Amino acid sequence: MRAVGVHADAVVAVSGIWQTTCTAVRAGGEAFLIDSPVLPAELEALPSLLDQAAFPAVQGLLITHADWDHLLGRYAFPDASIGCGESTAQRLRSEPGAAQRELRAFDDEHYVERPGPLRLAGAQPLAVPGQCELGNRTLELHPTPGHTADGMAILAPWADLLCCGDYVSPVEIPWLSPGGSPAAYRETLERLRGLVERVRTVVPGHGSPLSREDALAVLEADRAYLDALEREGATAPLPEGRSSPAQRKIHAENVERVHAGA
Ligand SMILES: [Zn+2]
Repeated sequence: MRAVGVHADAVVAVSGIWQTTCTAVRAGGEAFLIDSPVLPAELEALPSLLDQAAFPAVQGLLITHADWDHLLGRYAFPDASIGCGESTAQRLRSEPGAAQRELRAFDDEHYVERPGPLRLAGAQPLAVPGQCELGNRTLELHPTPGHTADGMAILAPWADLLCCGDYVSPVEIPWLSPGGSPAAYRETLERLRGLVERVRTVVPGHGSPLSREDALAVLEADRAYLDALEREGATAPLPEGRSSPAQRKIHAENVERVHAGA
């Protein structure tokens, strides 16, 4: 796990697998964690890592969307409350146990042991678009459907920071998961463009934090990929630097979803 201080009030940790990101933000003696790293040792190390950065104890866990690799914060902070967009709360309700099953499948495949089951009970739905108080500051919540049916981006104006969930990733191509759609994805990219232009640092769901300029370049490449995907299907070129076998597998999934008219 790599940890990067992106602002006096924000630390980003990048997981050793899938580069899944986790962002701690603080204000007025309170701290929230946005999403989570994946591996048990990383989750175990988080409290002391934030302690060393003189962060107050994390009281709230915000999640950008309901994919299981972003939901593991309670392994680090068992007593923290969970806040998520209404669309994510809805997805967690309508797919009970899905995240737990997928986590177990991952753990079984990689011989990973956890200290206990994943607990998501009591996840609090937040209005999106909307706001959320952290200490003496306010976080902005913006809707981000398209990758999945649910999702929110979190903007911390005082920290010049946007956590956008699974969009604008330097390591992963746009991924139309079940519940996602190219039209919603496109709208979300346009919404994100306006948000990216307001901040200095963008934290994607996967990959290292980006400068505003780099994030805008990735966003443009993602838009071009979606255009080509809808126009050409399987022969659409993948964004530069994101064409490994793993990315081509995601691309094949996208082609199927676009052709199915999802
Ligand atoms: Zn993800």
